[in-house]
This record gives sequence, structure tokens and C-alpha cells, in this order.
Amino acid sequence: MDDNAVWQADAVGLADRIGSLLASMRSAEAELGVLLVEIEGRGVMELFGYRSVARLLEHLADIPKSAAETVVKRARALRPGRALDGSPVAALAPATGVAAQDGRLSNPMIDTIVGVLTQVPPAEREEAERHLLDFAEDAGHKQVAALGGRILAHLDPDGSEPDSTEPATPSRELSLRRKRSGTWELHGRFDDETGTRASALLDALAERRTGDEGPDFRSPQERYGDAFSDVLDLALNAPEVPTQAGERAHVMVAVSLRDLQSGLGSAILGDTGLMSAAEARLHACDATLIPAVLGTKSEPLDLGRRCRLITSSMRRALFLRDRGCAFPGCHRPPRHCQGHHVRHWADGGPTELGNLVLMCGHHHRLLHRSGWEVRIAPDGLPEFLPPVFLDKRRKPRRNNLHQPLPFAA
Ligand SMILES: [Zn+2]
Ligand SMILES: [Zn+2]
Repeated sequence: MDDNAVWQADAVGLADRIGSLLASMRSAEAELGVLLVEIEGRGVMELFGYRSVARLLEHLADIPKSAAETVVKRARALRPGRALDGSPVAALAPATGVAAQDGRLSNPMIDTIVGVLTQVPPAEREEAERHLLDFAEDAGHKQVAALGGRILAHLDPDGSEPDSTEPATPSRELSLRRKRSGTWELHGRFDDETGTRASALLDALAERRTGDEGPDFRSPQERYGDAFSDVLDLALNAPEVPTQAGERAHVMVAVSLRDLQSGLGSAILGDTGLMSAAEARLHACDATLIPAVLGTKSEPLDLGRRCRLITSSMRRALFLRDRGCAFPGCHRPPRHCQGHHVRHWADGGPTELGNLVLMCGHHHRLLHRSGWEVRIAPDGLPEFLPPVFLDKRRKPRRNNLHQPLPFAA
């Protein structure tokens, strides 16, 4: 691209050019790896007088030794080589090597796939590699890493041995109180066993997010705060929690129909709390809070009582269809999820499968607050349109992380 073409290019043109340059760089780097493995096979000492190909590359490319070693290590995993006695050594990830030469894979993607395959038993490697590569066609390396984790968990479902410590006498206390500012303070003291369970549960829920909405900038404290909120949702979603008059949750929020529809104004939470109407609209979407919808003269309206509730059979159908949070790249399972009304029930949207999408708490909030949009595609599955700042063309994206593994029968 000459200067003139650069000045005249629109966003799509610039992005396309970056894409094709990246492909050229990647395929050149893959070819470099092929040459290094070839040199190593023939004998770098005989050919060049160097002790190792990494040393040779360090000098040829003028890069640090560690960087040269990374390149060589990556190349070895992708190409068959020869052992010191001249016998052939099969490549760990040969198909990945082919894709890399086509310029289709970033280095983090290659390293992710290779990292997973080193832990997969040789007999399963070919199939695992094919599956990871298929997935890599339209996912980032973090999503592929998540899939790799699932494959490894499937191959070794038992994980590590549990430890067998003596049970301690439980000693637990907890205080939860609301301050006048409207924030709540939680203090507690737990026995080792309860603490460990709480920590394991929160650790799992506080992981950095891997979805398509961009990097996760939350502090550890914020991530654990959000995880605690998720724990409450999880507990309230559990079938064992007694319902009150058929309702899942036990907190009321009073809001006028107008404010609920517009998302402007405020709502009364419980007896005293205040929340914005936008928050109330979000929580009312899957009745995480029970909305008491009021008319213009504050008279309670019957609206939505019958139509907004997602019945347990409908929830099961939703679990089966979406298998977890439907947001692209999210791996939260169904139990962590809420049902989002594509068209809000307060605006007349029906509570039926064709108007519902399963979403984790975080992505549900994101959807209500950001430029992301969701719709049900003609094949009956949800797809998400990213906001314009992420993708000018707003090409629909789907979450393929929850699809069953082909060998997980
Ligand atoms: Zn919603
Ligand atoms: Zn999610």
C-alpha cells in the first residue's frame, strides 16, 4: 500500500490490509521455523559451526537468546525432526504446522495449541489437534485455551487426589449490615473447611473474563465482589431453595410501568433501597427481583405476573438449546445463567423460547448497558451483534464453546 492508498483507505480497507500483512508475517515466520528445523536435522555444527540453531538465529536475527529459543521450540513442535542418532522424530502438532505456513495462526494461538497437545496422550492427539484447529478458525487464542482445558478435563476427569485432613470443629460467624449510604458490609470468620470451599467457589467465579467484549480491567477485589454476587444468583437459581408463591426470588422492587419500559427514573428496592429504573429493568428481565409494577397513580398492575415468569420446563429447554451463557467466548455453565428477554416483557415481549437467551449475570448486564445486541437467527439460535466501535460491519457472532466435543460421547 503506497501513501496515497493509505490516505484514501476507509476503516475496512485499513483493517483488511493489516489482516493480509499479518498473514504474510505469520507465514514467513512459519517458513523460518521450517528452515531452522531442517538445519537442526542436518547438523548446525557441520553447516554453520554453531552449537545450536537458537544460537545461530540469535546472531542472524539480532534478537535475545530467549526469543530465539522460543522460535526454535515452537518450530520443533510443528515439524518432524531427527534425533541425535538420525532416527526420525514425529512432530507434536503437524497439522498446526501446515495451518501456520498458510499464515492463519498467531504465535499465541500456536503456543496454546502446542501447550494443550503436550498434555494429551499420543493416541488422542490427532483428534484433539483437529478439533482445536477447527475452533481456531473463528475464535481467539483465549477461547481455544478454554476449549483445551475442557478437552484435558474430559481426558482426565478425576484430576488430582483430594487431601485427607482431619475435620476441624466448625466455628463460623458472619455479619451483614446495611450502612446509611446504601452500601453493605460483610464480615465473617470461618473454619478452614468452609473458608477453603468459599475460596474455591469464588476463585472459579472471579477468573478474568474471556468473552469478545475486550480485556477484563477489573481489580482482584472487584472480581471477587462480582463473584460473590454471582454466588447469590447461583444459590437463588438452585432448585433446592424454597420458592415463595411460585417465585424464585424474595426481594421486591417497586417501579412504574413507564420507568420500567423506558429504563429512566428510579425504583424502590425492598423496603428502603433505591435503584435506577435501568437496573430494575435488568433484574426484572428474568425476575431475579420480583417487580411490583405500578400504574400512573401508583396502583399495582397485574402486568407481567403471568407472562414474565420463565417456567422450569422452559428453563430446561433453554439450558438444552444454549448449554450455557450464549455470549460469544463465555464459558459459564447454565446454572450460572439467567434468561434474557430479547424483547423485554415490559415492552410486550413474550416469555417463550424464541424470545429468550441464556446469559451469565455479567453478560446480561453488559447486554442491557452497552451497544451489544442479541437476536434469534433463522436457525433458532441466538447471535450477537457487536457495537460499532468493536466491529464496523457488526458481523453477528456466536458462542461455540458450549457445543459438545465430538469425542465426548
Ligand atoms: Zn435481560
Ligand atoms: Zn457470559
